[in-house]
Amino acid sequence: MALKKTKSKNTYILAIANQKGGVGKTTTAINLATAFAGKKKVLLIDLDSQGNSSTALGIEYGDRDKGTYHLLINGKVVDGMIKESMIPGLSLITADGNLAAAELELIDIEKREFRLKEAIKQFIGIYDYILIDCPPSLGLLTVNALAAATGVIVPLQCEFLALEGISHLVKTVTHLQKKVNPDLDIKAIVLTMYDKRNRLSELVAEDTRNFFGDKVCKTVIPRNIRISEAQSYGKPIMVYDPKSTGAQAYINLAKELNRRFA
Ligand code: ADP
Ligand code: MG
Repeated sequence: MALKKTKSKNTYILAIANQKGGVGKTTTAINLATAFAGKKKVLLIDLDSQGNSSTALGIEYGDRDKGTYHLLINGKVVDGMIKESMIPGLSLITADGNLAAAELELIDIEKREFRLKEAIKQFIGIYDYILIDCPPSLGLLTVNALAAATGVIVPLQCEFLALEGISHLVKTVTHLQKKVNPDLDIKAIVLTMYDKRNRLSELVAEDTRNFFGDKVCKTVIPRNIRISEAQSYGKPIMVYDPKSTGAQAYINLAKELNRRFA
């Protein structure tokens, strides 16, 4: 593998997880990864069979031959698996539809929760951040992400019953912390799709801060149509529209998290 370990550094392995779909996991994964990549070396791992992160970073289906499915089934990262994105400093491991079968195929494999962790431990000290875009479930794929992670980032959509929705995730994190990964912790909760004209957004934000305190990032991601447009063009928001409120929010979020992890 062409990667060379130049100097030892801390590697934060962050699972971006919430078992609910459509809350901003993928959007946060790609845009945070892009914002981090300005100053840090970043690997994004697409662990959702929908492959939305891979699409949103402009990787064609034909270029996803070796991705997270192969990584989990073979238990290792092979040459050609790490793809360079259009963003300097941001590499990724793609996903495609095959990944949906991985949970089933891994059923009889020993230590199946640790396939990802084992495969990527060689990258500790090489990347500053390894971000894992999780699927909308708490199945074996997410468990692999949480077993490998040093922390969890939870995107929380500012909508009715948002907090109830993550209680199951919080329980899962606590359970895995006891059983498989003592270091695991929710490191940050990111309020997404915040609509300042909508009183509900404000109430959800307030409740979340009351419950989770400092874990909730000060930076809030506003609802911004440019963010979803950018994804359909296969670009991060900072590339598609760097002046948009969405791009600015993700840049600020990256700064806030860099400070938190410094
Ligand atoms: P998940 O990965 O949790 O399923 P996504 O990141 O794919 O969620 O987001 C769901 C949808 O919402 C996508 O179409 C995305 O473009 C859109 N979206 C996400 N964040 C925002 C935002 N801040 N403003 C507007 N649309 C957003
Ligand atoms: Mg997603």
